[in-house]
Amino acid sequence: MKRREFLKFSGSMFAGGAVAPALLSGCVERRLPGSGTVSTTPTVCNICFWKCAGHVYQEDGRPWKIVGNQKDLHSRGRLCTRGTAGLGAYLDADRLQTPLLRVSDQDGQRFRPASWDEALSYIADKMQAIEKQHGNERLALLSHGSGGQFFQSLLEAYGSHVYAHPSFAQCRGPRQMAFALTYGEDVGSIDRTDMEHSRCIVLIGSHIGENLHNGQVQTLSEAINRDATLITVDPRFSVVAGKSKHWLPIKPGTDLALLLAWMNVLINEGLYQKDYIERYAIGFDQLARHVQPFNPEWAYLETGIDPKLIRETAREMARNAPATLVHPGRHVTWYGDDTQRLRAVAILNALLGSWGCKGGFYVPEKVDLPSYPLPEPPKAKTDWKKEIQGEFPLTPTGISQNILAACSGDNAFVKGLFVYASNLPHTIPNSTELLDKAAQQLDLMVVVDTMPAEITGYADVVLPECTYLERYDALRNDPERLPSLALRMPAFEPLYDSKPAWWMAQQIARRLGLERYFPYQDYAEVIDWQLKQVGSSLAAMQQAGVINFKRKTRRYFRDGEDIKFRTPSGKIELYSQMLESFGYDPLPRYRPPEQPPAGYYRLNYGRAPAHTFGRTQNNPLLFELMPENAVWINPVTAGEHGIGNGEYIRLKNPEGTISNRVRVRVTERIRPDSVFIVHGFGHTDKRLRLTQGVGASDALLMSRVAIDPISGGTGMRVNYVSFVREET
Ligand code: SF4
Repeated sequence: MKRREFLKFSGSMFAGGAVAPALLSGCVERRLPGSGTVSTTPTVCNICFWKCAGHVYQEDGRPWKIVGNQKDLHSRGRLCTRGTAGLGAYLDADRLQTPLLRVSDQDGQRFRPASWDEALSYIADKMQAIEKQHGNERLALLSHGSGGQFFQSLLEAYGSHVYAHPSFAQCRGPRQMAFALTYGEDVGSIDRTDMEHSRCIVLIGSHIGENLHNGQVQTLSEAINRDATLITVDPRFSVVAGKSKHWLPIKPGTDLALLLAWMNVLINEGLYQKDYIERYAIGFDQLARHVQPFNPEWAYLETGIDPKLIRETAREMARNAPATLVHPGRHVTWYGDDTQRLRAVAILNALLGSWGCKGGFYVPEKVDLPSYPLPEPPKAKTDWKKEIQGEFPLTPTGISQNILAACSGDNAFVKGLFVYASNLPHTIPNSTELLDKAAQQLDLMVVVDTMPAEITGYADVVLPECTYLERYDALRNDPERLPSLALRMPAFEPLYDSKPAWWMAQQIARRLGLERYFPYQDYAEVIDWQLKQVGSSLAAMQQAGVINFKRKTRRYFRDGEDIKFRTPSGKIELYSQMLESFGYDPLPRYRPPEQPPAGYYRLNYGRAPAHTFGRTQNNPLLFELMPENAVWINPVTAGEHGIGNGEYIRLKNPEGTISNRVRVRVTERIRPDSVFIVHGFGHTDKRLRLTQGVGASDALLMSRVAIDPISGGTGMRVNYVSFVREET
């Protein structure tokens, strides 16, 4: 028998009642909503990472609705489609309900429900055994979400510092590194884009609106209402492309060629912000020489974009500078040249003078909120980054696929793995092989989540977290336009036998004799202590939900102000000596992309307003809005394959992976050489009774990745698909 078999689930295992009974039963009563006894509780939405503040309404003690908090400048008092569907997450009858422990007997391996004491003691015992056999540095955490910080604190207290957020190597890592290399600072999350004041916005492969981050969509809408010029670069005619003055349907993989050509025009026509560059930047002469070969005629052959249009759009950007924002995007792990492509975006913004300027990138500020006093955890004795990801010496954080790879093999560094709220098979491309190997070698694997997901099939222990509507979390205190704090607190008692992450980490710590790192009875004490340091209290926040603070610093650079950037030179580094000293190109260098094999089409993927990653497809309210994805195919391509609109087909990649059935949308809005699907569908876990088996998974079709040599990011747009017709 395998040490740890991947456990698949039948729909009946651990099943609760009917789908979201409390939601569906809402249609029985017909009286007017709000005519009963109404109470409200502040919250901070956790359906995505944007953290909009809201109020949860109950009527006669029953969940009613969630609306935006009018005091919240970050969300402007509004929640998006998904945020208003937060009750669907709370009432989802398919939620994980009780701790699960893997057991083996004569019938094989399976999970059985366990008490919290049994599950947590099992974890603590395994951690002690690992420490005894291998030392205390061999645990790792892969985490995506607010509760992950408590498990990070637990592992650090134990002595292990190995962690990664898949949002780095699978999403925004190259952007973080490119802007840090150029300006000494990241764009941040929340992105510091000042679209509310932009006169020209350039979106490169960024479909804001379909990719719905509330405040960002609102500021983009304001810009559109003010007639700001929008320039959208995308192989697909996205919703925002439809609002744009210029749509540049670029050949996939050639974005860096276009960026170099735009720089060529700005420099050769003398349209860049000369004073800004002279005052703040170094490396302009090297940049000017570097871009000389890359004129719009050269770029036309690479990108397919008319040279006249390249010149016209470059001049349009220059006319509106410095209130021109070349948006840095968010999910930027595309072709493996990603840090260099984002360096080009950062440099282009510098030529336009937009960093630190109104309408470009503002200077964010957060509340100076003291941390709750806790003992220092033991320092790492081993340089685990060098050990696990030494080939990426500039990468500032963990690289998730490298940590996963370090869970198996002769010299496996990681002996125990915690996975918090991250469904790795749908998050890290091509990870099932790594997970299979890890499952054979790890001494401990713990998965913490609110919902069943494919990743739980690899775990020894599954811990059910309560939803954000049933728990306290750390105060929201993100760098923003205006500093503010916002409170997430329980609106309801946890359903089933679910618990908050802080409690789980604390209880494991107690079993390990590490309780001094969690010296509170309830996390509310930590919040209250912090609020009292800034003149408020938990009681006051429970009424208000949000406190706004005045800025202490300026939002933009002043005219002629001397700025010391956090780069080695103290200047904006157009030419990066840091990159050069590590053997990388100091200026972005274009390399033409690989082309699909004959009969295959590039697999593009993206977001939809109704869903967040792969986390919301089973939410009954959001399922109703968008139950499945569709594959977009150009009419020419569809005609060549005899495929009709609305037909169900399967997608097949050159490595032989075949998707679930997916509906066809024949549309001119996609280039003939590409197809497009919305990410997050194609779940296989049968406990997700609404969404299991529905739609195609882009993640499972990604048999290949192009690793970015600087950040370690997994470029995912190097996958191709063809079509398999369904038998009729
Ligand atoms: Fe919630 Fe929407 Fe805000 Fe994300 S953008 S936190 S889903 S309301």
